[in-house]
Amino acid sequence: MKKDNRQSFSARVKAELIRLPAGKSCCMLSEISALTMTSGHLAFRGGGWLSVSYRLEDAGTARRLFLLLKKRLDVNPTLHFTQTSRLGGRRTCVLTLNGEDARTLLDALHMTETDENGQIHLKRTVPRHPMTRQCCRKAFLRGAFLGAGTVTNPEKGYHFEWKADDDHLPRMLEKLLEKCELPFHTYMRKGQQVVYLKGAQQIADMLALTGAGQSVLEMETIRVGKQVKAAAVRAANCDEHNGEKMLDAAQKQAETIRQISLKQGLFTLPPGLQAIARLRLEHPELSLRELGELMDPPVGKSGINHRMRRLMEIGENLNAGG
Ligand SMILES: [Zn+2]
Repeated sequence: MKKDNRQSFSARVKAELIRLPAGKSCCMLSEISALTMTSGHLAFRGGGWLSVSYRLEDAGTARRLFLLLKKRLDVNPTLHFTQTSRLGGRRTCVLTLNGEDARTLLDALHMTETDENGQIHLKRTVPRHPMTRQCCRKAFLRGAFLGAGTVTNPEKGYHFEWKADDDHLPRMLEKLLEKCELPFHTYMRKGQQVVYLKGAQQIADMLALTGAGQSVLEMETIRVGKQVKAAAVRAANCDEHNGEKMLDAAQKQAETIRQISLKQGLFTLPPGLQAIARLRLEHPELSLRELGELMDPPVGKSGINHRMRRLMEIGENLNAGG
C-alpha cells in the first residue's frame, strides 16, 4: 500500500483495514456487530416497522460495511450522504436497512425474539454476539476501531483509543482486551467513555491483532528512528561523566521508591507520584525528562523534577521515622 502523508496515521490504519478480506462468516458477523454498536441507530416507526441506519464519516468504512452486510446477511442497504450545514462540515455516509432487512440484521445479532403468537419483538437494543473464538474477537476490535477508534501519529506519541456514548461498547472492549491480554485504561471525556491503550508495544500488538500489519511496520520504523535520535541527542548532550551521574541518581531514586513500596505501598501515594514512581522502577536507565515524556499526559522537566523531589522527601521521612 502506498503511504499517503497527507492522511493522518489513524486514517492510514483505517485505509489498510478496510482493504482486508471480509474473512470467515463468523468474523464478518463480529465486525458487523462492532460497527452496529459504534455507529448503528435503531428507529421504530409504529406497526412493528423498524429500520437500522449507520452514520459513518469514513466513506471507506461505509463501503466495507455495505459489502459485509450484503455478503454475510444477503441484505440490501441503501446509501446516502448528509452534510452538516456548518461550512466545511464533514460529509457523513448513511447506510440504512429497512423492514425485513433490518429484521434479518437484528435476528443475526440476537436482538430479537419471537413470542408464542409468532410475533417478533425486540429483545435488546444492543447486539449480543458471542465471541468465543479469537478470530472473531480480532474482527470485533477491528470493526470497533473503524467505527469509533483513533490512534495518535507515532511521531507524536503512543495513544490508541475507542470512544463511546454509553458503556455497552466499553464493557465489551474490556472483556475482549482482557482475553487478548492487552492492558488498557478507561476515562471519561466530555461525557464520553474512552477506552485506551498506551505504550508503543501495546499499540503495535493491537494493530497487529486487527490485521494492520503495514501500519505496524510503519510504526516500528518511526519508533526505531525516534530511539536512534534520542540516543544521539543524549550522546551529544552529556559526556560520559554526566551519564554516570544520571545513572547513579536514577539508582538512588529507584532504591528510595522500593523502600516506600516496602514500608507503606506505592498505592498510598497521590496518583501523580505513584505514576512517576512506577515508571522509575520500570525504566532505571531513563533521564527524568524522558520519564516525563512517558507520563500520561506528559509532564515537563520542572514538573517531573518537583515530583521526584517529593518522592525522595517521602522516602527520607520514612527512613527518619524508622
Ligand atoms: Zn471468527
